[in-house]
Amino acid sequence: MERAREIIPGGVNSPVRAFQAVGGHPPFIQSAKGCWLHDADGRRYIDYVGSWGPMILGHAHPEVIDAIQSAAGSGTSFGAPTELEVLLAEKIRSFFPSIEKVRLVNSGTEATMSALRLARGCTGRSVIFKFDGCYHGHSDSLLVQAGSGLLTLGLAGSPGVPPDFVRHTVSLPFNDLCRLEEAFEKYSDQVAAVILEPVAGNMGVVRPKDGFLEGVLRLSDRFGAVAIFDEVMTGFRLAKGGAQELYSVQAPLTCLGKIVGGGLPIGAYGGKAEIMDRMAPEGDIYQAGTLSGNPIAVSAGLKTLEILQRENPYARLERLTRRLCRGLKEAAEAAGTALQVQSCGSMFTAFFNPQPVHDYDSAQKSDTGLFGAFFRKLLQRGVYLPPSQFEAGFVGFSHSEEIIDQTIEAARQALAEQQTT
Ligand SMILES: *Cc1c(COP(=O)(O)O)cnc(C)c1O
Repeated sequence: MERAREIIPGGVNSPVRAFQAVGGHPPFIQSAKGCWLHDADGRRYIDYVGSWGPMILGHAHPEVIDAIQSAAGSGTSFGAPTELEVLLAEKIRSFFPSIEKVRLVNSGTEATMSALRLARGCTGRSVIFKFDGCYHGHSDSLLVQAGSGLLTLGLAGSPGVPPDFVRHTVSLPFNDLCRLEEAFEKYSDQVAAVILEPVAGNMGVVRPKDGFLEGVLRLSDRFGAVAIFDEVMTGFRLAKGGAQELYSVQAPLTCLGKIVGGGLPIGAYGGKAEIMDRMAPEGDIYQAGTLSGNPIAVSAGLKTLEILQRENPYARLERLTRRLCRGLKEAAEAAGTALQVQSCGSMFTAFFNPQPVHDYDSAQKSDTGLFGAFFRKLLQRGVYLPPSQFEAGFVGFSHSEEIIDQTIEAARQALAEQQTT
């Protein structure tokens, strides 16, 4: 870590990896298999980070590795169309009925940034509505009240984002349709898009209240704005068709990332053909990428989606996650600790909070000191949670009941120890 800090800012290539919020030093990972991470000091951990979402099949899944290896043998990048890209696009469309056309990019950040440009281009308007605590990648106009990394480091936005850029971004409380309607009335014909995490993961897991998603879609429609569902985390995670399938809604534009690349860098945005056809070269709105649709990344993503289709693991993943959440809740009760264990599908967060969390303000009432101590005690016991109170943990293919029960036992010991210190 010292050597890393000499040469890489904070020693990491993405801030939350540095453990600033929880204390201690991050293990350096050497390899991973299934739900296990192995570090450079020879220790192993049950992994609930899953590379922050993508690794739903577990690490080094043999079929995905085969797909990557065989793609690499045919050349690593052409900058020209391939059949693989068409196959992945068709697969995405078959999972997401709201997506008629889709474009591949290299990250979730690129997907949301491009979707915003598209919405602004289509509507000829500038204002963007987002929700406090939702994170949509690190592009300038979206770094406002943006959850996880910023929440963890206590930053409101970021220096280097000119006030003029965020002047057009309005951040509103999550789960509050009245405030959204008021904002629409105030900005009426200036609003290009409303972007949201349909199930929030980047302030910790927060479900939408009944009717919230429908309300967002209805109000956007009424005021001529494009609703953008950022399913970078929830897509292929909550169900094959993401939060839209789970809540039976359809968004005009959807952003994808994480699982869609099967552990390699891919993002995607797609939706109604009439909107997508505004993109160059079909239309006049520009977006491009030298490595977009990279054959190795696309092969990993395609294989991952094929396996999800074949195995349909969602009911099992949810059952395992419920078991884990119940165990954590009981362990907290036994130790007299106020813990809100919130989950949706295979995403979960244990908030050290006396009250349920339904938005950014209630998430902020969590005791991050207690979380940090819990995190470190679990790490000592070989359990690797996301190193922030405001993140989702993920259960995947290779977490068994036995692994879940080991985790619960570790949590029970950690919470009991915390109670006595
Ligand atoms: C992770 C994430 C992003 C950003 O994706 P990157 O690949 O890290 O750029 C955007 N939106 C949501 C909801 C995410 O969880």
